[in-house]
Formats: sequence, C-alpha cells, structure tokens
Amino acid sequence: MSSEIIKQNPFQSMIDRFNIAADILNLDDPIRQKLQRPEKQIVVNFSIVLDNGIEQNFEGYRIIHNTALGPSKGGIRYDTAVNLEEVKALAAWMTWKSAVTGIPFGGAKGGIICDPNTLSKTELEKITRAYTKSLSDIFGPQKDVPAPDMGTGPDEMGWLMDEFSLVHGKTIHGVVTGKHLNVGGSLGRVEATGKGVSIITLLALEKLKLRPARSTVAVQGFGNVGLHSALFLFEKGLKVLAVSDVSEALYNPEGINIPELILYYNLNNKSIKGYPNSVSIKHEELLLLEVDVLIPAAKEDVITKTNANAVRARIIVEGANGPVSSDADAILHDNNVLVIPDILANAGGVTVSYFEWLQNILTETWGANQVNKRLQNTLTESFETVFYTAAKYKVTPRIASYILALKKVAETQSIKEVAL
Ligand code: GLU
Repeated sequence: MSSEIIKQNPFQSMIDRFNIAADILNLDDPIRQKLQRPEKQIVVNFSIVLDNGIEQNFEGYRIIHNTALGPSKGGIRYDTAVNLEEVKALAAWMTWKSAVTGIPFGGAKGGIICDPNTLSKTELEKITRAYTKSLSDIFGPQKDVPAPDMGTGPDEMGWLMDEFSLVHGKTIHGVVTGKHLNVGGSLGRVEATGKGVSIITLLALEKLKLRPARSTVAVQGFGNVGLHSALFLFEKGLKVLAVSDVSEALYNPEGINIPELILYYNLNNKSIKGYPNSVSIKHEELLLLEVDVLIPAAKEDVITKTNANAVRARIIVEGANGPVSSDADAILHDNNVLVIPDILANAGGVTVSYFEWLQNILTETWGANQVNKRLQNTLTESFETVFYTAAKYKVTPRIASYILALKKVAETQSIKEVAL
C-alpha cells in the first residue's frame, strides 16, 4: 500500500492547519502572511574532499521561520530527501512548538542533502564544519541555535560548536544544543524527545481513562525518538506490540521486550532486522494495527487520506514532525481517533534543548532529576493548556495547539511591529 500513498507537501499541511486556527482567531491578512512565510531562507553550497580524494559539492539550507518569541531554534537534518519545502514546514513547526511549550525561542530548521549512512565520520565532520562556516554569521546563542534532527546527533553538534567557536575566536557553548556532555551538553537531552513522547502518551491515556498496564502500543521508527519512546513506555508497563525501522517491522502479540531489542539493535549494527522473538510484518501494516496507541516516529506524511480510514489505533501520538498530513485530519476525527499533534507530542526535545542552552548561558550543570522534573512539568502544563483550549473552542488538540501558538506569536509580532 505504501507505494499508493499520495504524499502531500508538508508545508501545505502546516498552512491548512494554520488557516483553520487563524480563521478562529480572526487574524488579518498582513499578520497571516507574515507568519506563514519564513523570515529568512538561506541556501548554501560547499564542497569537501571525500575519503577517496574526489571533491563533492553539497547543498544545504537554513530557514529562519520566526523570531518574535526569541532566538530561532531548530534542528539540522541530514537526509537525501531534504528539500526546501520540507525544511520550510519543519521551521514553522518549530515556531509553533516553542510557543505551545512556552519556551522563549522562535523557530528554524536546517538540512543538508546527503546520505549520512554512506559517509565516513571524517566526511561528516568536513560537511558539518563547511556548513557551519557558511552560516557562521547566522548562528549564535542569541540569534539562531541549531540542534540535532534526523541523521544528526551529538557528534555533529560538537563539530558545529567547535567550528563556530574557531570562527569567532572563543568558546561559545550556547550556539548549539544536543552536544556531548563534555562540550556543554545536558543530561537527559539524548532521550528527551522520546521521554516527552512517553509523558504525553501517559497523559493521553489518562484522558481516555485507559490504564497503561492494560494498553498496547505500536511504534514506527527506531531512531532516537522511536527507540526511547518504546523504551519508556515499556518501562511504564505498556505492551509494545510492534516496532519498525527501515529494514524491518516486528510484531509480537505478547509484547516485545524493548530493553532486549535495544541490546540486539546495538550489537546488530543499529538495525532491528532479524530480531528473533517476533514475526515480521509489512511496514504499512504496523500503522493499521489494532492498538491503543500508535506512535509514528519516522517521517512526514505516513498517514494520509489514502490510509487514514484503515487506522485502528485509539490514539496517535506524533513522535515525528508531520507524520499525519492535513488531508487525513477530518477522517481521523470522524473515526474518533485522538491525535496528539507533533508540536506538543515531540516537544520534549526542544524543551531540554532550552534547558541545555540555559545551562550554557548561566554556566551551570543540572542533574538528571532536575532536567526530568522540569521536562515533566513543562509538558504536563502544555498538555493541560492544549486540552483546555480544545474544549473552549470545540476543536481538536491539533487546532487548539495552533490557536495557542498563533495567538502568542501574532500578539508578540504585532507589539514588535508597532514599535517599528
Ligand atoms: N529536531 C528536534 C525537533 O524537531 C529538536 C529541535 C531542538 O532541540 O532545537 O523538535
């Protein structure tokens, strides 16, 4: 079925929801246009010498969507499918995500068209440093603060910090988050997005009066977000019936032992392929399993109008950014599927990024308990505010999240514009 799925432009999905919320808020045209379009779109190209001695050119992007609430914040994605429209949507989602969680940041996103799986460590370092150099006047702790996203992690963030510091002639930890601990990273940042997804999932189960120990879950994607979501939910007693990565989708009606699967995955070159205590199912089947919770934690547009009607989960928690396209929203709503939107569900990552940035600025080091407690509080408060807003306006949690975010950003933007 996956080949039949008609993908929607993710930026269009963002605009569709934006317009529904903007209509409810009665936003006028100039502010709508201002908030729909990115403040800045930067395309860079640079070359590096590959390990085989051949020079190769790469194209990269950094989109600053909005800075009304603070310095722009958002990850950098390394993937062959990276393109400007996708980065534009991802940058806008960062603006709304920070606003929903009450973090004093704007939104941005970056990306480089490359396949991180086929590049060596040296090549990845050269690419990261070259990209950073070409954006060294854009990045900055009070300007634009990158972080990891798909295909990047603490290594890339460390190289970015080092290159930026070299260009500016001093150590500047706060220019990027998601770094290794020894270069100013924060405890709890690596697992933060997955931990956040699990916190939000438990709150959603509670809303529907479903008990964790009696609930089942399927997780699409076993990268940083999927792996940690599955692990934390397993630890809370949920039965993880299925997980997948690019190589395989695994199913066990009795539940998969996630810590055991993680051991296997680490010994198996970061792949779940061939894990014995389960059967293999088709990737697209995982999305249609009868479970209490479905966590799409891989890519955009995996649930569209093509397959939305066949979804049998009670709750969808969007671990990835944009996994449900806007053309599926009404179908899921009509079928009584509760969708917890990405800009709330996966906000744990940027929340702990904010804590890391704060620690860097204040030259402090927080303990894991402090980080996790603040994360729990921030997400619980955001979740409650979203559900309160949903009830007030009689809309879905997704539209409620957009209403909250748009209101906050539009008001701040207007104050700034009056001052001009
Ligand atoms: N890439 C992550 C996201 O999409 C984290 C961004 C950040 O920490 O700035 O939310």
